[in-house]
Amino acid sequence: MPLDQPAPEKPAQYQATPARMADAALTQALQPSLDLANGQLSHALRRKLGQELRGALEAGTLALHYQPRVTLEDGRACGAEALLRWHHPKRGNIPPGLFIPIAETSELITDIGGWVLRQATREAAGWAQNPALKQVPAVVSVNVSARQLRGGVLLRQVAQALEESGLPPERLELELTESMLVDGSADTLLTLAAIRDLGVGLALDDFGTGYASLSVLKRLPLNTIKLDRAFVRDLPHDAEDTAIVRAVQGIASALKLEVVAEGVETEDQRAFLSNIGCEEAQGYLFGRPAAAEHLRRTLRSGG
Ligand code: C2E
Ligand code: MG
Ligand code: MG
Repeated sequence: MPLDQPAPEKPAQYQATPARMADAALTQALQPSLDLANGQLSHALRRKLGQELRGALEAGTLALHYQPRVTLEDGRACGAEALLRWHHPKRGNIPPGLFIPIAETSELITDIGGWVLRQATREAAGWAQNPALKQVPAVVSVNVSARQLRGGVLLRQVAQALEESGLPPERLELELTESMLVDGSADTLLTLAAIRDLGVGLALDDFGTGYASLSVLKRLPLNTIKLDRAFVRDLPHDAEDTAIVRAVQGIASALKLEVVAEGVETEDQRAFLSNIGCEEAQGYLFGRPAAAEHLRRTLRSGG
């Protein structure tokens, strides 16, 4: 049931008040790419979704899907990104682009982030049993939010998840966004350096869409840049995008950073990226996000 539909078993609670009708109209208008980050939905609806999300976390009904990441040279899966999924019993699947910004307005995101780290490391530790992965260490990438960086929480969560799961630290990578890093505070730098010292990788997600200056690439202990799919979409025909992508690849190579191209959907995009020396990619061409069981099959078949 979409977000704007009332839950059937409690009709009295869902009489069509003007506020609810406004929420419903807005929700409808914004489908499918609802963006609560822009504050376009009412405070009441945001608060209700936040409470329901807390309930889902506590009831253990959140899930992770995994999207394979492949080495462009040979097409083999070399890892996967964990992507959070919330299937609401009444409202149906709610996209992370909608519920993550709600969670990010409170400490809820810290609790969710801790659960994602524990779950992803536990599942990835199981991939080691997979014979296809013997030569290629499969890295699991986990998205983290700015709030987790506060007060050293992220470092504690990472250390705990690694200890509980037994996953070798080099098989975990954290995805950070440019906006999280823009302040470049001493606290952030220290936390990230401590995480790198554990042996965990750090990737800059959605590269090119945020506010980061090039000095972020220099100052932070990153190993990977994830090139946002906005630059990949019109490859190889768009002259500006081809120039930008070549330039990013050049900078990354010079700084010894790996580039992962996001949102690769066509063979032409794959060929272009491979030709300019991009090492890795993710996208529907190689595999959509799916439950761990499906990913294990993908990894077993080598891509
Ligand atoms: P992201 O980290 O950039 O994740 C990649 C998004 O691109 C995913 O959307 C994925 O399904 C989508 N995608 C992958 N390949 C293709 C493609 O070829 N074409 C197109 N059009 N899309 C593709 P999803 O799963 O809806 O996630 C959206 C965002 O939600 C993520 O963007 C990430 O910022 C956030 N997110 C997801 N899981 C978590 C989490 O556990 N914690 C935090 N803090 N954020 C999360
Ligand atoms: Mg990501
Ligand atoms: Mg991304």
